[in-house]
Amino acid sequence: MKMLIGGEWKAAASGGEMEVVNPATWETIGTVPLGGHEDAGAAVDAAGSAFAGWADLPPVERGKVLFRTAALVREETEHLAATLVAEQGKPLREATDEVRGFAHVLEYYAGLSSSLYGESINTKAYGRIIVERRPLGVCVGIVPWNMPVLIAGWKIGPALVAGNTMVLKPASTTPLTTLAIGDLFLRAGLPEGVLNVVTGPGETVGEALVTHPNVRKVSFTGDIGTGRHVAETAAQTMKHVALELGGSDPMIVCDDADLKAAAAGAVVGRFYNCGQTCTAVKRVYVFSDVAERFKELLVEKTRAITVGDGMETWVRMGPLNNAAGLERIEGVVEDVREEAEILTGGRHPGGKGFFYEPTLITGLPADAPTLREEVFGPVLPVVEVEDLDEAVEAANSTRYGLGASIWTKEIGRAERGCRDLEAGIVWVNQHLKVPPETPFGGVKWSGTGRENGLHALERYTEEKALLIRS
Ligand code: NDP
Repeated sequence: MKMLIGGEWKAAASGGEMEVVNPATWETIGTVPLGGHEDAGAAVDAAGSAFAGWADLPPVERGKVLFRTAALVREETEHLAATLVAEQGKPLREATDEVRGFAHVLEYYAGLSSSLYGESINTKAYGRIIVERRPLGVCVGIVPWNMPVLIAGWKIGPALVAGNTMVLKPASTTPLTTLAIGDLFLRAGLPEGVLNVVTGPGETVGEALVTHPNVRKVSFTGDIGTGRHVAETAAQTMKHVALELGGSDPMIVCDDADLKAAAAGAVVGRFYNCGQTCTAVKRVYVFSDVAERFKELLVEKTRAITVGDGMETWVRMGPLNNAAGLERIEGVVEDVREEAEILTGGRHPGGKGFFYEPTLITGLPADAPTLREEVFGPVLPVVEVEDLDEAVEAANSTRYGLGASIWTKEIGRAERGCRDLEAGIVWVNQHLKVPPETPFGGVKWSGTGRENGLHALERYTEEKALLIRS
């Protein structure tokens, strides 16, 4: 495939290409341009040229293009989902959900296209003050490989509806579905240059986009280290920056919880997308008087997860997306193998593919390093606690603060969790789900800014004040 710049499909200026590999089979499934500095510059130029015309359109007309794109995405779901499975590894059912989720996000923002109001106030001394919301200009979206389609939608939807143009940089292991979606935007009548998709390594293409003086906003999702670097770099040219840097979401299971529902929630919450979800359940704190029963249920449900190539209909969990991810997960388990008890899983099954068995660990002390970092794969530590005070203190004892959940039937305990858990989103008796109406983002080191909801739409605009005296 080629990349999308200014409404045209282009090879890299260098002529270089990079291969995309199926993480389940290690077969090469396609090539994309190995973009570089020059290509990033061309994409920003194209987005810059398209900006005035796009920003001038009535918002409802911008919304119509998104509605048409969403309709095409829905028509092409089968093909897009199969491409997503092949490059990302997730089971077809999850890939289909993700593609539909992308369409839903576009529809949501298309529906909001006329909802961006300004403000006005009459003052005696200075006349009338009007505050308009103006689009920022060229925005850059840097997208990771775990949910490449949905996360792209969280950036494209609000950016375009608010009147901005965008350059999207997909992760190097998952560019194919994003490029296919770029084509659907063109078919839906998106003016050329409004959305550009540039492929190539983060250290070159990503870096060139983040340093480009004509880019006004960078919305980044990925690793904390990369995010911090992006923020530092973007600050040199005073860009707006939104960072979604993952989490180490705790789940608290109280002794009055519906244990079957909690165990099911933990298993889906952890092993969905092979554990590579920013808001996955990454640590469980269960009250000790129900811990044995809860662990039994958890083991039973975890052992029932079938692992294999996501295109097989019997598969419930695919491989990790890449070799580095598998290596990190193997390292996490080896580091605790001596001190912890592995209830199930704990190994790469051998053969081709970046597979790792769904793994449950118990017996770690509450302050174990594994419980403080983001474990991005199918490994779930379960820790026993005596009461809610201990659970909340342990839950908050990381630098992350993306999501958290509390499972209980008592309203008082639920309210305590909502109030005291340090997170951008707290679920009660559920975890993981993020409908597009939900402002989504973290506190502490999980990032700055919010995606989804009207909040994200506003963050793709800036206020302009007009003081009018007649
Ligand atoms: P990165 O943060 O490196 O990658 C995310 C995106 O940033 C990719 O598109 C990447 O491009 C791009 N990128 C990389 N370097 C730069 C740069 N200097 N400037 C601009 N863009 C850049 O994450 P990794 O893929 O290395 O994953 C490492 C770990 O990060 C994971 O194991 C997990 O712990 C965490 N992570 C968390 C995610 C989340 O949603 N919370 C998502 C992904 C990762 P390219 O692919 O070309 O390198």
